[in-house]
Amino acid sequence: MISVMWFRQDLRLEDNTALKKAFDDPNELILLFQVNPSQFLENSLNHQAFFQSVAHFQKEVNKPFHLQILYGDVLMCFNQLKKALPNWNTVYFNQNHCGSGHERDQMMRHFFKEKQISVVSCADHQLHAADEIKTKTNDDYKVFTPYYNQWIQRIKAAPIKVDLKKDNVIKEVLFPEDEEKFAQLIQALPNKIYYLVGNQAAHQQLELFLSQHLVDYQIARDFPIQNKTSQLSPYLRTGEISIRTIWQRLKEQPASEGKETFIKELCWRDFYNMIYAAHPQQKDQPIQEAFTFIHWENNPIDFDSWKAGKTGYPIVDAAMRQLNETGWMHNRLRMIVASFLTKDLLIDWRWGEKYFQQMLIDYEPASNIGGWQWAASTGTDAVPYFRIFNPSLQSKKFDAKGEFIRKFVPELEKLPPAFIHEPQKMTGNEQQKYGIFLGETYPNPIVNHQEARKKAIARYELSKELF
Ligand code: FAD
Repeated sequence: MISVMWFRQDLRLEDNTALKKAFDDPNELILLFQVNPSQFLENSLNHQAFFQSVAHFQKEVNKPFHLQILYGDVLMCFNQLKKALPNWNTVYFNQNHCGSGHERDQMMRHFFKEKQISVVSCADHQLHAADEIKTKTNDDYKVFTPYYNQWIQRIKAAPIKVDLKKDNVIKEVLFPEDEEKFAQLIQALPNKIYYLVGNQAAHQQLELFLSQHLVDYQIARDFPIQNKTSQLSPYLRTGEISIRTIWQRLKEQPASEGKETFIKELCWRDFYNMIYAAHPQQKDQPIQEAFTFIHWENNPIDFDSWKAGKTGYPIVDAAMRQLNETGWMHNRLRMIVASFLTKDLLIDWRWGEKYFQQMLIDYEPASNIGGWQWAASTGTDAVPYFRIFNPSLQSKKFDAKGEFIRKFVPELEKLPPAFIHEPQKMTGNEQQKYGIFLGETYPNPIVNHQEARKKAIARYELSKELF
């Protein structure tokens, strides 16, 4: 008999729940990854980075074994596999609890049942799976802190040892044409490195963060120029490192405020995963129904200016250009640009969420939707709608000297701190002096923050009244 290990967002050969079970199974084993080309968007840094990771993983697996690539629609691929291997009777995978991954898993469960293939699906991607932490009345939590209090008490996660000694892993290439198509897709990717891919690089990133930045993380994490967050998010979304391995190494660190704060951030990841599983409609619908009737402006020119980093608000522009150039954006900046889009420009948070989906190399549906609904004040435990970020004050607080702005908005390089956050305050003479001409070399602000703030509050209140 033959078993299949189906990799998805768990691109590693260590500390992998489903893989351990698959290796312990005496059946012959096939290791595989299924590529759905219809999901691949050309200008998506998200997809480019993800497939770079898959290609790297393929090389790693191919050293001792062989990673079979299936290329095409998921049902078609697995149908073809079953036809090629009538003896295939078990499939192992780490399941998705929410979003399109969950829908695919549900559909595939039907398929496997029909074909009499047993499914061994595991919870692997979180420290606590979506259905693990409930209130006393067995409801889902809506507020972070009580969820966290349960979450932290109940963690038992420990790395899982996978014994890779197995001599009946099938190494013969089953679908050479599919592998060729995947190779072509990889070759056509832009020759750009977004981050150092792979399990080894993920471990190095973890160790660098723990040894150098964990201890003062609670302070340094808010200053984009310092780059002192872990930057583990791209590895977590591909599964190039396991969350249990991170947890284990974290536990071994001496107690510090930085450590406590970092643990809370890991909890946000599980919290949003739980929220998305509990509210499967939340990619399209606000969780707080009172905000269903917000009248968004949705001005496409403003949206383009925001995407391109040309709003005339330097901190917003620097952040958006960081995203466009690197595929990653600092958390403080994600909050600033999301607030700016939804509250200052009154553009629907779903537009922003989709743009982030296209661009983020760490795109995780639950965290992204959660972050956007938080910023738009439409989600569970979101920022109150009347507390609106002032982008210039945020800029002065978290990039006081304007170093981050200068890095990503080079046309403002010569501006002193007095003007770097609000270039529109320069007189004509000052513009001459610094060689920056508003409306020509750098845009005037596309919106007046104080006026926009009042308008946004009125629109949110109107939605509540209409509800
Ligand atoms: P660190 O500060 O080092 O945190 C460590 C890990 O904790 C992160 O890698 C991440 O897994 C988790 N984490 C930290 N903050 C959050 C948070 N607020 N919510 C959920 N998990 C968190 N994170 C994503 O992983 N993918 C997304 O698509 C995503 N979209 C976001 C969109 C918006 C509008 C906002 C406000 C936040 C979003 N986040 C997202 C959360 C957060 O910005 C990133 O996790 C973080 O910036 C990643 O960098 P890091 O690994 O250096 O984080």
